[in-house]
Amino acid sequence: MAERRRPGVRGRRAAAGALALGGATRIAAVFGDPVEHSLSPAMHNAAYAALGMDRAYAAFHVKPSMLAAALRALPALGIVGVNLTVPHKERALTMMTKLSVEALMLGAINCVVNRGAGLYGDNTDARGLERDLASLGVEVEGATALVVGAGGAASSAVVACLRRGAGEVVIANRTLARGAALIRRLRARLPLALAGVPLSVRGLDALADAALLGRAAIILNATPMGLTQASFARIDYARTPRGCFFYDLIYAAQPTAFLWPAIALERRAADGAGMLVNQGELAFELFNGVAPPPGVMRRALFERLGRQGGEYAKS
Ligand code: NAP
Repeated sequence: MAERRRPGVRGRRAAAGALALGGATRIAAVFGDPVEHSLSPAMHNAAYAALGMDRAYAAFHVKPSMLAAALRALPALGIVGVNLTVPHKERALTMMTKLSVEALMLGAINCVVNRGAGLYGDNTDARGLERDLASLGVEVEGATALVVGAGGAASSAVVACLRRGAGEVVIANRTLARGAALIRRLRARLPLALAGVPLSVRGLDALADAALLGRAAIILNATPMGLTQASFARIDYARTPRGCFFYDLIYAAQPTAFLWPAIALERRAADGAGMLVNQGELAFELFNGVAPPPGVMRRALFERLGRQGGEYAKS
């Protein structure tokens, strides 16, 4: 049977070997500042190699002052699409020709697709997290979710919890006004079926509120705390129910400062590596019009991290 033709497929020889750039190779990329740590090239290039596609994925260090120029260059260079990471996700929203409903709701984009006639902005973070929570078997139906942070990642975490059926979402953020703005945007953009679910904002003192912690089914960290400084805000971990799930959107080779006390108390805990894989798989399909082979991007990521999966067990 003839092989189905995919964009830029080079055949089996290329599929088996390392990426060989040629005159017809099309590029996808990630823009960030910093970007050197990004594991997206490893994931996307593994999928290109597995599919034998004449495409390659690069990382470009783009400073905020150069973001508009870098995005304007995409059509001229024939770059198929780019992922955006910190600090570009919110600013780039205003630089798109067209935005998905999801991007408008989240107030940020992590994918720019070069559609020839213009740039299309989408966001796969909430769907990526939702898929990861489902594969981890995290149940939040009718329950309380506590999201720490109120930036773009927190927005995705709130939406993912709502779509997984949370009965209440509490946002704990250092700056209350930012949390309130997030709730206002979500209230205006959420589909009707989710618009009635109670959303509230608290300061970081909520992390020591015994009543709130006692009813939390999941606590998600959507801040860089623990990465940019040694410690995490004080959380009264012992007040959480035994079944409370701790999820850090940060991913690392070791448990983060947010996760390790939870692991020590035998709570289930995972970092954002699974979210990264899932948002990446969705982005790959947006850029290339074909889904990556199952498991290829996941294996490439966890090989780099030296781990088997996103969830940690108490050692
Ligand atoms: P962001 O828009 O800059 O938001 C950062 C949030 O963290 C804000 O709510 C901010 O509070 C809070 N924050 C920052 N430093 C703090 C500190 N020292 N103490 C207390 N709060 C602090 O960032 P983002 O894009 O949402 O990303 C947040 C994290 O999620 C990043 O670490 C990123 O790597 C991760 N992420 C992971 C994935 C994945 O696929 N796994 C995807 C997206 C993001 P204020 O409002 O008070 O400033």
